Amino acid sequence: MPAQILDGKKIAAEVRAEVKEEVSRLKAEGINPGLAVVLVGEDPASQVYVRNKHRACEEVGIYSEVHRLPAATSQAELLKLIDKLNKDPKIHGILVQLPLPDHIDEKKVIDAIALEKDVDGFSPANVGNLVIGDKCFYPCTPHGCMVLLEKAGIDPKGKKAVVVGRSNIVGKPVAMMLLARHATVTICHSRTRDLAAECRQADILIAAVGKPELITGDMIKEGAVVIDVGINRVGEKKLVGDVHFESAAQKAGWITPVPGGVGPMTIAMLLKNTVEAARR
Ligand code: NDP
Repeated sequence: MPAQILDGKKIAAEVRAEVKEEVSRLKAEGINPGLAVVLVGEDPASQVYVRNKHRACEEVGIYSEVHRLPAATSQAELLKLIDKLNKDPKIHGILVQLPLPDHIDEKKVIDAIALEKDVDGFSPANVGNLVIGDKCFYPCTPHGCMVLLEKAGIDPKGKKAVVVGRSNIVGKPVAMMLLARHATVTICHSRTRDLAAECRQADILIAAVGKPELITGDMIKEGAVVIDVGINRVGEKKLVGDVHFESAAQKAGWITPVPGGVGPMTIAMLLKNTVEAARR
């Protein structure tokens, strides 16, 4: 039987509606949640992401300011701005759009964001708290994956979860979140010996690889939940995930489409983290 679709667009709209209500409640208490987004350089994809984030904030009533800096901005200047934003009471969340130009040490910049304003959740201290199960911000894309599972009524407890990809922004944090929800987790990567065999064990399969349609239907366990984080451009216009949707949908119980799956969840979770930062 073909899989049910985990509709990220619809679920993200629900999350945004919840956030909007929380923003109203906060405003009634005299708290005006604020997000600062910092963009260095003119990378076209980053400009689109930043514009979308700003627009999404406006839609739910979050105050947002975008700091657009030239590509030649020095690391010291950028750190100075982060310091200023750390101290700014109007700002509850700070997001530095990655990637940064080569002459800037990304790690140093992310590390400079105050822990209580790190709504992207990438700083080493936040990641450490995530690993030990302490209070933290869940990084937005992995958090989006978990909310998709939750909204579909899927409890990871006791299930076998396989995460393909071990990046710091998706694979590792989502594996930690699944572990925290009592799944038995396997993390696969480019040196995994038999990827297909690992994937076939998965009750929950999360693909975060960046390789178009790497995971095919024959690698999916009957009835599995398949979350496809990948966004890959093939040809001029077409976007595909890391999962071959047509064949995987014949085996899976639930599957996310690309586009319209995890993608819309990422910004929704950023908004959620920003109101949470303001609430704290
Ligand atoms: P990275 O390139 O940082 O990581 C990719 C991971 O996949 C690595 O761990 C790599 O292994 C592993 N890998 C590569 N080839 C294979 C293979 N043949 N078999 C098994 N594992 C493999 O990517 P990201 O995590 O940043 O992103 C992954 C995808 O998710 C991309 O398509 C990206 O565009 C998308 N994305 C989508 C977001 C959204 O909002 N929906 C947000 C962030 C990312 P190794 O470590 O051994 O090199």
